[in-house]
Amino acid sequence: NAKRAGGARHVFFDQAMRGQAERRSGLEADLRRALAEKELFVVYQPVVGLQPGAGVDRGTGVEALVRWRHPKRGIVGPVEFIGIAEECGLIGALGDYVLAAACEDFMRWRTSLGPRAPRLLAVNLSRAQVAETGWTSTVREILLATGMPPHQLQLEVTESLAAQDTAVQRHLHELKALGVKLALDDFGTGYSSLASLHLLPVDTVKIDRSFVSQADTSAHHRVLIEATVRVAHSLGMDTVAEGIETEAQSRVVTELGSDKGQGYLYSRPLAGPDLEAWLLAE
Ligand code: C2E
Ligand code: MG
Ligand code: MG
Ligand code: MG
Repeated sequence: NAKRAGGARHVFFDQAMRGQAERRSGLEADLRRALAEKELFVVYQPVVGLQPGAGVDRGTGVEALVRWRHPKRGIVGPVEFIGIAEECGLIGALGDYVLAAACEDFMRWRTSLGPRAPRLLAVNLSRAQVAETGWTSTVREILLATGMPPHQLQLEVTESLAAQDTAVQRHLHELKALGVKLALDDFGTGYSSLASLHLLPVDTVKIDRSFVSQADTSAHHRVLIEATVRVAHSLGMDTVAEGIETEAQSRVVTELGSDKGQGYLYSRPLAGPDLEAWLLAE
């Protein structure tokens, strides 16, 4: 009967929630250790230049994506632990680690790859990180310590982050003053508005995968991509189409004028040595 079924459902939900909470608190304790034990590492996904009527430019850039080599769970992705790191105050340390490691790798590639080295390094920022006071001076210190040229570093923020508060806005302007580039990540998700693009000090708009994945099948999505590219260009920004998985999607976003593309079609995120091989191929 209904009452018994409802009761059973409660038990089910309680167990599911307890399981989730346990997994979380387990991960939180583990994450503190992971930072100390160097279990975090960075992989790189190529960002290619889209050239109408020609092959893609492999040397355009790379995006740094953090991974966790957990001793029991194996490789854990950022979606599982960035939120936890933010909540338990570890995002600052995690973010500094990723930025420094990525800048070091980038500088090494300049030597090992010469003209084949990527020209731009993109690193993701989370809200809590950008909100931290004194954070821009940490970025400056990392740039100085690694020798990373500021204009080759692109920091990626999401719209909700960029729009939210004035401390964040101020920090973004401070970053621009350092000479680093800013990109708006996952554009089109959340409460995006083309009209508000000019309010943000960004150089690049990354069109979210949810649009790109339908570029070849939906006229509606094509129109939105085209409009985004037009507005971005007219504001002096360039665009990256995220999550390109097929030749058809690649062709369409190239025709619609996107400057750059990123996705499994070109390459999955790669460990440093594999990225070097990919950049040297062709
Ligand atoms: P994002 O910045 O939008 O990065 C793109 C994500 O899409 C990556 O997932 C990438 O592996 C995935 N992706 C790329 N191409 C394709 C494709 O063709 N198809 C599909 N299905 N997926 C594709 P990942 O590495 O799991 O990262 C997820 C998110 O976690 C990132 O989204 C970013 O917001 C965040 N993140 C990653 N690394 C860091 C970090 O170091 N710090 C912070 N704060 N956030 C990070
Ligand atoms: Mg990103
Ligand atoms: Mg993105
Ligand atoms: Mg995305």
